[in-house]
Amino acid sequence: MERKPMSMWEKMYLPAIAKGMSITFGHMFKKKPTVNYPEKTRPFSPVFRGLHVLNRDEQGRERCTACGLCAVACPAEAITMEGAERLPGEENLYREEKYAAKYEINMLRCIFCGLCEEACPKDAIYLSETFAPSNYTRKGFIYGKEELLIPDPVTQPEAYAKAKGAHK
Ligand code: SF4
Ligand code: SF4
Repeated sequence: MERKPMSMWEKMYLPAIAKGMSITFGHMFKKKPTVNYPEKTRPFSPVFRGLHVLNRDEQGRERCTACGLCAVACPAEAITMEGAERLPGEENLYREEKYAAKYEINMLRCIFCGLCEEACPKDAIYLSETFAPSNYTRKGFIYGKEELLIPDPVTQPEAYAKAKGAHK
């Protein structure tokens, strides 16, 4: 195939440079499709299902009664727990006579389907508007009560409101 020789104008590359610059400048004034994460975050969808929260009642008592319905409903078998009997004097800590002494969710197994939230008869677990941060170890993705339990609304009202989020 014979190539057409370039004209003098084409050899100067000026039209191509001007065209390229016009595209560049055009993009400079367009609205950015990206956000400066983590300084800015996109608003979550109203149906977003994120990290689990173990809920407390208005007096700050743990709602979970270790009935196991969430674990049974979980299709990923991500939830494990151990129940314990509430002792006299612990009424201010646990709402029901039985509570979860240990409650763990493996976030590497979880598919964030929300079935645990739907299965819970005590409004004790829900999926919040945040997500599990990255971690270097598998163990770091197993969340226990320390990570899951919502702050106490009586002693830490601001932290409680922040953890609760707008959708709950
Ligand atoms: S969101 Fe779904 S997969 Fe994750 S723990 Fe709950 S039931 Fe299991
Ligand atoms: S979170 Fe709800 S469903 Fe799961 S064990 Fe506790 S009370 Fe039962």
